[in-house]
Amino acid sequence: MGTPLLPGSTLGVLGGGQLGRMFAQAAQAMGYFTAVLDADAHSPAGLISHHHIRTAYDDAAGLARLAEISDAITTEFENVPAQALRQLAQRRPVAPAASAVAIAQDRAQEKAHFGRCGVPCAPYAVIETAEQLAAVDAALLPGILKTARLGYDGKGQARVKTPAELAAAWDAMGRVPCVLEQMLPLAHECSVIVARGADGQVVHLPAQRNLHRDGILAVTEVYPGNLPDGQVRQAVAAAISIANGLQYVGVLCVEFFVLQDGRLVVNEIAPRPHNSGHYSQNACDVSQFELQVRTLAGLPLTQPRQHSPAVMLNLLGDLWFTQGDAPQAPPWAAVLALPGTHLHLYGKTDPKRGRKMGHLNITAATPEAARTTALRAAELLGIAPF
Ligand code: ATP
Ligand code: MG
Repeated sequence: MGTPLLPGSTLGVLGGGQLGRMFAQAAQAMGYFTAVLDADAHSPAGLISHHHIRTAYDDAAGLARLAEISDAITTEFENVPAQALRQLAQRRPVAPAASAVAIAQDRAQEKAHFGRCGVPCAPYAVIETAEQLAAVDAALLPGILKTARLGYDGKGQARVKTPAELAAAWDAMGRVPCVLEQMLPLAHECSVIVARGADGQVVHLPAQRNLHRDGILAVTEVYPGNLPDGQVRQAVAAAISIANGLQYVGVLCVEFFVLQDGRLVVNEIAPRPHNSGHYSQNACDVSQFELQVRTLAGLPLTQPRQHSPAVMLNLLGDLWFTQGDAPQAPPWAAVLALPGTHLHLYGKTDPKRGRKMGHLNITAATPEAARTTALRAAELLGIAPF
């Protein structure tokens, strides 16, 4: 990636979900054309892109077509086969690289990478065989058994207290490769989004404080004082060293746990923009999606500046149903009557409980005002207070 790809070029994305949609929107705002590869005719990104190639991620003809019409290609979905990225990389610049995505796809490899970077994670054991299962250190219990691959939003996980529960959980997961992590006493969860250019330049967004409910991100709060200063500095430094260690090009999210004793441990990485970075669309002068466009196009990176305290509420499909399961329209007009509310919906027409349908960013002059408005919006929407 020597000379930058300027507006007027076509940027391709593997995956048609909401992250691809918001990438395409940022690219289009800057004058790029976009191409999306996703089999779903109604995929959020496919619906709004200039080109939509409707094939599976491993379809050779679809990938060839994406490479033909795109000047550079990224991904919005870490579970795309790394082989697909390798095939594309033979013809076009691809960022992030298949090698980095392959590490992020596999919890065992990801944790080994954290070790190489000197960033602590939860004590864990890799379980791929019955022998490894039998040899698990009892000190890891109670723990969380996680499939090494293909987990998201808390799926592919089981909380286990005893060796018997662990064995039963591994059976129930079909004895696929897993990691067992010790259950840690969390004080907070947080994440840091970094963008790294092909020239090695790194910029980052401020650390986000995240609240998960049922394994799914529910609320992100970003303003001075959202997290203890020491942990913020450590998290930013750790995220940068993880990105540098991967020779990463693109936007990378690093998720952390802050433990009750104040220690910071890394949880996992996502090789793409992340749900916890959505506030940057309205609270920062450069959003995580614009950073993705810039890294892919080889444009300069400048350190983003957050200009407003922000709270993000995830809008799950649950909001489209009454407690009695009757369909309902969320009260958008009442929510948008509140100052500093910014609605983002992903164009999904079939709401389901637990499905990410959109998010609401709330910005204000002060953290207190952002929180007050966010709590009022949550109340109107039927989201539990935080
Ligand atoms: P996503 O990809 O959507 O972030 P995921 O399915 O990859 O989620 P994790 O991030 O591994 O799942 O875990 C989901 C949540 O479960 C965490 O955000 C945290 O709340 C809790 N959790 C996971 N691992 C641990 C642990 N070792 N100790 C305590 N809590 C944990
Ligand atoms: Mg996670």
